[in-house]
Amino acid sequence: MVDSTHFYRAFQPDHYDIFLTIDRQKKLFSGQTQISGQARSQAISIHAKFLTIKSVRSDDDQALPFELDSKNDAIRIHLAKTGAVTFQIDYEAKLTDSMMGIYPSYYELDGVKKQIIGTQFETTFARQAFPCVDEPEAKATFDLAIKFDEQAGETILANMPESRFENGVHYFQRTVRMSTYLIAFAFGDLQSKLTTTKSGVQIGVFATKAHKAKELDFALDIAKRSIEFYEDFYQTPYPLAHSWQLALPDFSAGAMENWGLVTYREAYLLLDPDNTALTRKQLVATVVAHELAHQWFGDLVTMKWWDDLWLNESFANMMEYVAVNALEPKWDIWQTFQASEVPAALQRDATDGVQSVHVNVEDPAEIDSLFDGAIVYAKGARMLVMVRAMIGDAALRKGLKAYFAAHKYANATGADLWSALGDASQIDVGSVMNSWLEQPGYPVVEASVIDGQLTISQQQFFIGAGKEIGRQWQIPLNANYAQAPSLLTEKSSQLGDYAQLRAENKLPFRLNVGNDSHFIVKYDETLLADILKNVTELDAISQLQILQDLRLLAEGQEISYAEIVPLLSRFSQSRFAVVNMALFVIANNLKKFVEPDSLEEKQLRQLFDRLSSSQVVRLGWSSATDESIDDQLTRPYVLSASLFAKNPNTIKGAHDLFEKNRQQLSSLSADIRLFVLRNEIQNFSDPDLFKQLLEDYRQSSDGSYKADLTAALTATTDPVLIKLLIDKFEDADTIKPQDLRAWFRGVLANDKGQQAAWDWIRQDWQWLEETVGGDMEFTTFITVIAIIFKTAQRLSEFKAFFEPKINVAGLTREITMDTRVIENRVALVEKEHAAVNQAVSQQIN
Ligand SMILES: [Zn+2]
Repeated sequence: MVDSTHFYRAFQPDHYDIFLTIDRQKKLFSGQTQISGQARSQAISIHAKFLTIKSVRSDDDQALPFELDSKNDAIRIHLAKTGAVTFQIDYEAKLTDSMMGIYPSYYELDGVKKQIIGTQFETTFARQAFPCVDEPEAKATFDLAIKFDEQAGETILANMPESRFENGVHYFQRTVRMSTYLIAFAFGDLQSKLTTTKSGVQIGVFATKAHKAKELDFALDIAKRSIEFYEDFYQTPYPLAHSWQLALPDFSAGAMENWGLVTYREAYLLLDPDNTALTRKQLVATVVAHELAHQWFGDLVTMKWWDDLWLNESFANMMEYVAVNALEPKWDIWQTFQASEVPAALQRDATDGVQSVHVNVEDPAEIDSLFDGAIVYAKGARMLVMVRAMIGDAALRKGLKAYFAAHKYANATGADLWSALGDASQIDVGSVMNSWLEQPGYPVVEASVIDGQLTISQQQFFIGAGKEIGRQWQIPLNANYAQAPSLLTEKSSQLGDYAQLRAENKLPFRLNVGNDSHFIVKYDETLLADILKNVTELDAISQLQILQDLRLLAEGQEISYAEIVPLLSRFSQSRFAVVNMALFVIANNLKKFVEPDSLEEKQLRQLFDRLSSSQVVRLGWSSATDESIDDQLTRPYVLSASLFAKNPNTIKGAHDLFEKNRQQLSSLSADIRLFVLRNEIQNFSDPDLFKQLLEDYRQSSDGSYKADLTAALTATTDPVLIKLLIDKFEDADTIKPQDLRAWFRGVLANDKGQQAAWDWIRQDWQWLEETVGGDMEFTTFITVIAIIFKTAQRLSEFKAFFEPKINVAGLTREITMDTRVIENRVALVEKEHAAVNQAVSQQIN
């Protein structure tokens, strides 16, 4: 039988000579790829996809017989001998707009349409550019040469520096040993900013000339300092001569860690340093730090097979916070981790049927569908945060240094990392982590006083129906009473006489202090009341955690949302941004219990006004010069709440700002610009303004302004304008396919637009599949529907549409999970809406 995966077993490549000729005008390219390596068998397989193979010849110029097996992306080649072999494959292919393989990115400069050619090879798209053993383990060196329809002033970039330019051909230095999915190149009319690290690594940021030069500065500084940080933290030098960061106008994922040539979505790299919200700066900084963490962890040492891809991503996801916390300590970026990644992981991981972090996978095509961000990135990162808390930074750094030294330019597995960290820390990291990585879900730990005894017990936590099968975890408890064990390895444990423990410890009993372990806590009435008595005196993370856990318990119907509603007002004066965030996450979750334009909705708006009004008065619309970061980050939450509440002063304040800045809306302060624009669209809109803002969107190259415009325009309540918007969904000159999901989500979340957006996606599903199908972002269109739908009617429509697609490759898991997510929400709303609305009405009277 022919092996359909692991081509590496029969043939191990050592070196590739790749020559590409690319014609942008004709959207064609041709290539000659010479591959040398060790053949274990005369019958070998090489990956190729969408390539028209012209010939396969041995190094003595003999034609080698081959067959194409397009189902397995394979060229089956019959060699004349085994052992050391060299052969050459000649081929042609098309450039397509799929954002995979070699592809064009489109943009406009001074009204002229232009393009940048770039690449995206992860997971398995290198095979669309050149024949190769396209598996992470098949590391080799690469000589790359590229010729293209070049015009004066154009720039070409690749993993390595250019070594020579001859007869119109750019030759690049031989790469170090690396995996195919990390190869990259790009060319076009680019601008750049360059600098050098302390150790002499050249750092560069590249973008189209549609951007202002100053938009490159922020990323350049972060990239330089990140490389310096990692060289120190990992105690391992950056292995290449340069680290280029390139913004591509069309980009499917957020960014890609190609070795030495990292590619980014424009909005995740470029920003106007003079007018960008702090949250956006933090986002760009963490994305850059994430990709640069991969230059070692992922690129220098690579997973052996795709089943350990989670390890790459989880690790980089943790390190982005470790690095940014070191580069910008004032930001307290771990709070952002607690406020964004942690709830994402806890929410998704509580749905029965969720995957475990580590999943055995043979077929790389499956990897894309397993690439669940909330699990692979967020939960995985949390697992590593747990490890870091367990072993400490000194052991982490020592272990990593040994890990890089042992596996550099080669591959490793999760077990290799655990053993390196275990050796460094003398803690059996692997056995603790196994219960977390191989099992889906997580526990709720119940803390109760039973017959006077303080008792804790664990069981799996579910949001919605879940099958209890007795899963248990080794839980780092981080309790604030020394009498609690450091690790709960049993189903339950008794800590002793509660009254005595309480007297000795002199403070309320709490678990998971610092919120670094992946579990939630359900305190009984006595213990919760004790905590809540002085809850606003606790640190920010503790307050956030208490609110988050209560919300999850309510989602899981372990308690009622009606019990949380009366608690909200005591947090509404908080000066901590993350507490305000957690507060309004709960408040926004109450929206699912009310019908549009109902009395209940009106009462909920009044509750929002109570929760936000004094903070709005305190903070106003513009930052004070010496304002705290917490205040800066709180302002958007309270303004948003106040506008939902239809507070007349806030509406007027926004409208006045709009009038004052009408001629230069993009220069409105980025912290509050969205609210001004959305207020105008919702409360003062006319079709001319709407069309003007849509045209602004088309012309602007400022990612954060464009995001604000998306959120504002999709909030229109005018059915004519909603139709106009939906007509633009398939017009790539206005809305790029990479940005479409945000537009779709915005209209779908809008009560007045939902029907039209839902009709659109069902009618034009095939168009969507052809346009953005095939990569790992595609299924997130289903995810966003499941985030929004809450009625039995929509649930049955969702099922009617998606159930027939349940066997479509790559969609099965998402459709199954999302059906459950909507079912859970519909059941929760049916069961609770009366009690919740009653609780809201009591709060406002
Ligand atoms: Zn990554």
